[in-house]
Amino acid sequence: MNETKTCLSCGKPILGRSDKKFCDDQCRNSYNNQLNSDSTNYVRNINNILRKNRRILEELNIDGKTKLPKTKLLERGFNFNYFTSLLTTKSGKTYHFCYEHGYLPIENDWLILVIRDGERT
Ligand SMILES: [Zn+2]
Repeated sequence: MNETKTCLSCGKPILGRSDKKFCDDQCRNSYNNQLNSDSTNYVRNINNILRKNRRILEELNIDGKTKLPKTKLLERGFNFNYFTSLLTTKSGKTYHFCYEHGYLPIENDWLILVIRDGERT
């Protein structure tokens, strides 16, 4: 095999053993650090969005069941792309949940906010 391998970190050709992926430990470490920080940031960002969504629902759903226009959530920065689970009832209604707090979209861009049974704190 005459294939020249290059370092995954700096891209320079690797000399010596063919199973090496990096020139040295420094390249290996910087590659792994980069990988970890990107994935860590990705997870952290999504966790932050979910926590923020949950907090918005908690703040708006004072009575445990509240009907309000969708814009009330959007005003506060609610992100409808992120939720932790879905719950579809026998009648075919689908609730979106962020942890124990959820919402059901109804007509004219209104929502019914709910809290999951047994998980209310
Ligand atoms: Zn390198």
